[in-house]
Amino acid sequence: MTRRRRLYDGKAKTLFEGPEPGTLVQYFKDDATAFNNQKHGVITGKGVLNNRISEYLMERLGEVGVPTHFIRRLNMREQLVREVEIIPIEVVVRNVAAGGFAKRFGTKEGTQLPRSIVEYYYKSDELGDPMITEEHITAFGWASPQDLDDMVALALRINDFMSGLFLGIGLKLVDFKVEFGRLWNQDEMRIILADELSPDNMRLWDIETNEKMDKDRFRQDLGNVAEAYQEVARRLGILPEGGPVDFKGPKVLQ
Ligand code: UDP
Repeated sequence: MTRRRRLYDGKAKTLFEGPEPGTLVQYFKDDATAFNNQKHGVITGKGVLNNRISEYLMERLGEVGVPTHFIRRLNMREQLVREVEIIPIEVVVRNVAAGGFAKRFGTKEGTQLPRSIVEYYYKSDELGDPMITEEHITAFGWASPQDLDDMVALALRINDFMSGLFLGIGLKLVDFKVEFGRLWNQDEMRIILADELSPDNMRLWDIETNEKMDKDRFRQDLGNVAEAYQEVARRLGILPEGGPVDFKGPKVLQ
């Protein structure tokens, strides 16, 4: 395997220089963190599943005209993506009250929201990703009003598309987080979906049982975390080739 220059080492992913200019290799790790890094763990096989799930969702979104950074999957843990200038904002879309929202507003977890609610958080580990408004975003110059309009429109389209897709396989899309980046083509700039779409960044509940099938299993020590991610992949019809034997992890690391 060729040696690649590591550009960024994140909590659940590492970014390497890509084979051509303007590309990056996104490597999915088994590491998991929660509560602003206070909780750490390793979920064997998670990286393989998230690589595959994110590939699937980004491809389907691409087919309905949502621009994404995804180019192609390279192997079980890596995908080739377009290099973008990441906008330092986490856009969260919520359909049902859960997690931080339920706590902040004293809403019972599981309450259906009157409509989808979009929130913004400033990406900063030091500050613990504070919740922000459009005022902060435009005043600090993190994004222009036009960028923001594009991001919200895309986030809502992603929500509609993924809500339907998951409903079809018996899962409720409770909420999710997305990140966007700027892609330059000469003097023209487009906002495209970046980062990943996986059960690390969304809440998925079984329609029948309300069972959590996402990272809350790790956050709340519910156990069977990898099994839940695997079940999401199974229902999507994309279990990695070879089945569970692929989830052993370390052997495929390098
Ligand atoms: N989320 C994320 N990264 C973050 C914070 C939140 O991917 O740094 C996702 C989380 O998985 C959930 C949604 O965004 O699907 C809303 O998260 P919430 O604000 O409820 O986060 P919590 O306080 O529960 O971590």
